[in-house]
Amino acid sequence: MVYNHHHALQEGVMATVIQAYRFALDPTPAQRRTLASHCGAARVAHNWGLHLVQARLEQRRAGEDVDVPWTLPALRQEWNRVKDQVAPWWAENSKEAYSSGLDGLARALKNWTDSCNGRRKGRPVGFPRPKRKSRARDACRFTTGQIKVLNDRKHVQLPRIGVVKTHESTRRLARRLEQGTARILAATISRTADRWFVSFTVEVQRHLPVGKGKTTVVGVDVGVRHLAVLSTGTTVTNPRALERSQRKLRRLNRQLARRNTGSQRRRKTRRRLARVHARTTNLRRDTLHKLTSFLATQHGTVVVEHLNVAGMVRNRRLARAVADAGLAELRRQLGYKTIWYGSRLVVADRFYPSSKTCSACGWVKAKLALAERTFTCETCGLRLDRDLNAARNLAKITQHVAQSGWETANARGADQKTQLAGQVAMKREPSSPVPHRTWDWDRRVRKHPAT
Ligand SMILES: [Zn+2]
Repeated sequence: MVYNHHHALQEGVMATVIQAYRFALDPTPAQRRTLASHCGAARVAHNWGLHLVQARLEQRRAGEDVDVPWTLPALRQEWNRVKDQVAPWWAENSKEAYSSGLDGLARALKNWTDSCNGRRKGRPVGFPRPKRKSRARDACRFTTGQIKVLNDRKHVQLPRIGVVKTHESTRRLARRLEQGTARILAATISRTADRWFVSFTVEVQRHLPVGKGKTTVVGVDVGVRHLAVLSTGTTVTNPRALERSQRKLRRLNRQLARRNTGSQRRRKTRRRLARVHARTTNLRRDTLHKLTSFLATQHGTVVVEHLNVAGMVRNRRLARAVADAGLAELRRQLGYKTIWYGSRLVVADRFYPSSKTCSACGWVKAKLALAERTFTCETCGLRLDRDLNAARNLAKITQHVAQSGWETANARGADQKTQLAGQVAMKREPSSPVPHRTWDWDRRVRKHPAT
């Protein structure tokens, strides 16, 4: 797939971008209760609506002529008719909480119908299921009412919940709001482990620059041992805080496996695990933000490997799962940052054997075990770090792509499949010593992100 934004950006344009700004919160105990109550209300509305839909579908199957509420307005109308009986306490929460739950249901129903009709790509989507308190991700979305980022950059205001202290500074968003280049559309409160977050959906006026004329191509291999290896020879290591967090995660995972089901200690370990998991995710996201900004601003083209989503779910090895999650997040961030910064993102074809191909002569190895850290070519004798070899192959993809004239194909970022079969003629390079640099986060990054 090729995401090419070059042509739309020849002049550089002002564009409206919908963007999310997420902040960790420090609510008071009373506010925690209100936050939880709103998320609970959203869940109740979702489950009530789902039950109604199932009952109506049942009636219809039995031959009765009934309406099945399938959209948010239809579901909301039904809810308003019965809320006094179903949830006599409904006035305790903002009405947006119920709307939020029903909206989630309406989307899930639509995804299911689209998936059944073949209008939706990817894995088939199942019929929505009831949200259970222990399993569901607590979340509730507000679209109207008092939604504000206060001037002190340390507080936000939310409907019904009031003024809540933020755990981190809101300056990233506050600055834009003050300049008048941003407008808040909605706020979603959510809980991960025992930390509350608010995520603002914001309409931002951004200047999308002309591609800065950079013609460099960089291939990025997301590995198990490092965060990433670049085709330029730079190894991007995990910051120490992330390494520590990942080690802790592995230890707690082993500990959990030893605990007896249903025991108090198991519950305790599970809670700790959830906390460490949330912290790791945040650290990784923040680290990747710095890397993707660097890639999208310093290079004209960024090439990444295809992500096998189906394999991701099956793979139970933690290290691989962590790397896959990193690649997914890297792709997501590069998707919009390459637009912002006028570069382009190329995603390798899913069958392109980036780690099994020799980056010097193009010879393809039949099998490469995960434990083999060095790629050795049996044809030209190249010996190279496995990940660097893969990254170089990724960077080479664009040579082939450029020859096939894809560049004029899509200026608006639509997907386009590149056919890469491995028979790409590659020029042989003299085997030069590999310049090896390490990206040292702990020196670059002065302040670690708050979680
Ligand atoms: Zn070779």
